[in-house]
Amino acid sequence: MQSERETSVLAPDALEDLIAALSGLGFQVLGPTLRDGAIVYDELESAAELPGGWTDRQEAGRYRLERREDQARFGYAVGPHSWKRFLFPPEVTLWRARRGADGEVIVEEPRLEDRPLALIGVRSCELHAIEIQDRVFTGGRYVDRDYANRRKGAFIVAVNCTTAGGTCFCVSMGTGPEARGGHDLVLTELLAAEHGFLAEAGSPRGAEVLAVLPRRAATPADLAAAGAAVDAAREQMGRSMQTDDIRDLLARNLEHPRWDAVAARCLSCGNCTQVCPTCFCSAVEDSTDLSGETAERSRVWDSCFSVEYSHIHGGSIRPTARGCYRQWMTHKLGTWIDQFGTSGCVGCGRCITWCPVGIDITEEVAAIRLTEDDGAAAA
Ligand code: SF4
Ligand code: SF4
Repeated sequence: MQSERETSVLAPDALEDLIAALSGLGFQVLGPTLRDGAIVYDELESAAELPGGWTDRQEAGRYRLERREDQARFGYAVGPHSWKRFLFPPEVTLWRARRGADGEVIVEEPRLEDRPLALIGVRSCELHAIEIQDRVFTGGRYVDRDYANRRKGAFIVAVNCTTAGGTCFCVSMGTGPEARGGHDLVLTELLAAEHGFLAEAGSPRGAEVLAVLPRRAATPADLAAAGAAVDAAREQMGRSMQTDDIRDLLARNLEHPRWDAVAARCLSCGNCTQVCPTCFCSAVEDSTDLSGETAERSRVWDSCFSVEYSHIHGGSIRPTARGCYRQWMTHKLGTWIDQFGTSGCVGCGRCITWCPVGIDITEEVAAIRLTEDDGAAAA
């Protein structure tokens, strides 16, 4: 059997064997594919569904697919989906109620999903995001039953980044571009000489899966090529964020005039929170059928940008875009550290790309840092 530390090289065709092996083990296999002009995550039945030969160009408020000159399967940055949509789905039924034969109310919890997930193409920033959500949903006194169930058996095939996006800043957040743990297998796509994937197991079950794939032993040249490809992504990083003292910087500047400037542009659409792989706001909705015979309670994604989300007796406590953006950013980068011991941002850049008006969290932090004295004076 392959040990966890041995490295192998897989030919592109071996991805078909990987999907077949994971399906054969009972996993629902999920991975990147093209849909609606973007690279999204969905169920994969074949490696032909991977976005071979495609890349993305990303800038603040802009995302475009382009053809690559090669057939790279993972030659793009991250798209609008994150793995949160499978581990913490946008809508989950919490319970259903119906009337029994004698008119009594019978309440039932839905059965938990019993098919474990296999996630293919997980980037380093996304591994960090999953780790953050693990802490949010399972690290405290109250464990989220649905999340814990989806997460516990998940098989993770990480892919080291060899192409960074224009809005990526994982290097400055210490979250990438190289996967350093939390995966079962890690691949690095090699394109310079022969097309293939340097593969290394990250867990005993990852080693078992790797052992059944057609492969050859990696050579020092393969290892050097993989290292160079990841270094190239590190150099390509489109943005950076200076994080030292960030919690206190934001706490000192709650009345900085920059919040007004960003609020004048922000549409309060909540896109940034929906695409963010760590945001976890949710609401609970009840519904009944028209006859009153059945009722259902669901948990749905919500956003701290929605006025209703902060509605308590007497009205919303954050009725303005200024208040919402400030709450989102100071929580993500500051008070998240107090709450969970890490930043809530992994530098994936999605909130920048998918903001319809191109608001850039790295630019907002830099502006506050640069003009802190003005802000303090204005307070
Ligand atoms: S705040 Fe933005 S850059 Fe940071 S993890 Fe969320 S979407 Fe990614
Ligand atoms: S920052 Fe951008 S994405 Fe977020 S709510 Fe405002 S306009 Fe929408």
